[in-house]
Amino acid sequence: MSNENINASRCVQCGKYAIVEPPPLCVEHWLMYEQAMHIKMTWIATHKNFTASELEAATGYAVPIAKIEIPQTPFIGKNYNLNYINVGEGHIEIKAQTIQNIDITLGILKNQDNNALADEIKRLTEAVNSNKELTRDIKDEVAEQIAYVAAQVGINKDKRSTGIVKSLMIGLNDTLRTSAALITIWNNLAPLLRTALGS
Ligand SMILES: [Zn+2]
Repeated sequence: MSNENINASRCVQCGKYAIVEPPPLCVEHWLMYEQAMHIKMTWIATHKNFTASELEAATGYAVPIAKIEIPQTPFIGKNYNLNYINVGEGHIEIKAQTIQNIDITLGILKNQDNNALADEIKRLTEAVNSNKELTRDIKDEVAEQIAYVAAQVGINKDKRSTGIVKSLMIGLNDTLRTSAALITIWNNLAPLLRTALGS
């Protein structure tokens, strides 16, 4: 039997043999497609969880509201789909999910013409990722706080959690001043954040 007899579709993206259809996609492009769908669902779930947290805060945390458990995006190898953040040789110290969320927020900020702010958030994220002074746990915490505060810029002012943002800003300042390199970047970023958040 020659290859001509195999009834195999070709990937619409690259022309390799397809493993799924429609549309026919090879294993690599199918994975990229699934990751893109996952990122989209993560963004929706994050927004839902954020809204739930706001409701909890409004009730003085008297009524716990169910949150969506967001599974880690199935990134394989160096394929993190980062558009803005550069982690060098694919070396991610921060949780891939968190760095991905910050990267998505950078895209939103750039769409809103918040370029200077986006550039400083990118610089801080990269510096935290490669920092040698902070532990991995602290790096994750800092990155989650950056992700949360940055995401607040992208939403309507009346929907922002001003109290939470203020305490996170103080917490970030306290943590980042343990490193001369990080506090320097933070001192550039913090005023831009305050201006953007109107606080
Ligand atoms: Zn392909």
